[in-house]
Amino acid sequence: MDFTLADDQKMYVETVRRFVKNEITPSVMERERDHAFPLDIIKKAWEMGLMNLSIPESVKGFEVDIISSALIVRELSYGDTGISTSAMCNDLANFVITQNGTEEQKEKFLKPFVDAPIISAFCLTEPGAGSDNAAMTTFIRKGDDGRYILNGEKCFITNASYASQFTVFCKTGSPRGLMMACVIIPCSAVSAADITAQPTGGREITLPGGGRITTGKPEDKLGQRLSNTATVTFEDVVIEDYQIIGNRRLGFKYAVDVLDYARPMVAAIGVGLAKRAFDLTLEYTKERKQFGQRICDLPVARDTLVEMWKRVELADLALMKAADKVQECAEDRGVYASLAKNVAAEAALFCAKEGLHLHGGYGFMSEYEISKLARDAHIIDIYEGVREVQDMIIGRELV
Ligand SMILES: Cc1cc2nc3c(=O)[nH]c(=O)nc-3n(C[C@H](O)[C@H](O)[C@H](O)COP(=O)(O)OP(=O)(O)OC[C@H]3O[C@@H](n4cnc5c(N)ncnc54)[C@H](O)[C@@H]3O)c2cc1C
Repeated sequence: MDFTLADDQKMYVETVRRFVKNEITPSVMERERDHAFPLDIIKKAWEMGLMNLSIPESVKGFEVDIISSALIVRELSYGDTGISTSAMCNDLANFVITQNGTEEQKEKFLKPFVDAPIISAFCLTEPGAGSDNAAMTTFIRKGDDGRYILNGEKCFITNASYASQFTVFCKTGSPRGLMMACVIIPCSAVSAADITAQPTGGREITLPGGGRITTGKPEDKLGQRLSNTATVTFEDVVIEDYQIIGNRRLGFKYAVDVLDYARPMVAAIGVGLAKRAFDLTLEYTKERKQFGQRICDLPVARDTLVEMWKRVELADLALMKAADKVQECAEDRGVYASLAKNVAAEAALFCAKEGLHLHGGYGFMSEYEISKLARDAHIIDIYEGVREVQDMIIGRELV
């Protein structure tokens, strides 16, 4: 594997760094205090081509390779991991269509994302089915007229309050069915009036084809307060055949494939946060003096800085290896995706925690960005599969 970035990859990195410096960093602390969903930033990211990276060229998408996508997500996450989570969620939701949809489905369900800055939601998790996705009970069954009807509830869904399209994994036939399907539900786009602030309540969408989608009140979260998260309920939603992706019995396999693609992206989120925590801490400890010396010159403090730097670099290596494996469709890509996710989550948690510590009492003050990073870091170890689930995947492959 060659670690030299190609010219277009260097250009992506520089572009996103500029975007973060100009559009995110100046207002991130104020926005996060207000818990306001930054749709204006999402829209600018879309205009600059930093979203919908996986959409194929056949529908005029960018079809960005996985390594470049990881670089873009990593750099965006250096600015804010809530924003990068919401931005990359479009790819999380749309990847299954890219991989398994027909050309007609790509045109119908992916092209709108090329044409306008709209948002998508990936609906897998349920109140009773988190790590154990197969325990989900949301299901489709065939109605008397031969069309399918979807019912069920999903929770912790990123972008739910603003989504113009929902990708939903569900059981086929009955809530206790063994087979899983994947269905796509486009709905009305969120209007400009809706996008000025975080909605205080839920959203009710009556679908022209029949049925209703209701999103809950946006969750009040410990961290990543610039991403939107809410429950989504499907009531008698009519699903036409063209809304079912691929084989309606292979949904579980499709979900696993999506997560193999997405876990390096979560690792990229972790590396971006860890690097930000390291940079902020290095800067702070170079400025602040105690015992007549800069804190960074006190031996034990310097050891901590070195450990932080090592973890950032090792997580970045794990990320690049995983992205390369996914890019090459290597058979063992799942193991490396899980490894990268865990190593990057550990790096993010370590750098945020130790970075806060090296800021002393100031790190505990909410006006210091390191305190925000310490809150944001926790979710990287949880979403898209908790640490133990990644270890389970790795362990299963090893033996
Ligand atoms: C901010 C946020 C955004 C999210 N976005 C989305 C989204 O867009 N779409 C979506 O579908 N989901 C989303 N999720 C859901 C997320 O993926 C789940 O929260 C996660 O998979 C864990 O599921 P759970 O919360 O039910 O925890 P549980 O599965 O109940 O796990 C709780 C704890 O039990 C332990 N545990 C679980 N399984 C095992 C095991 N096999 N071995 C040992 N210990 C274990 C772990 O310590 C784990 O942390 C999001 C969650 C959050 C908080």
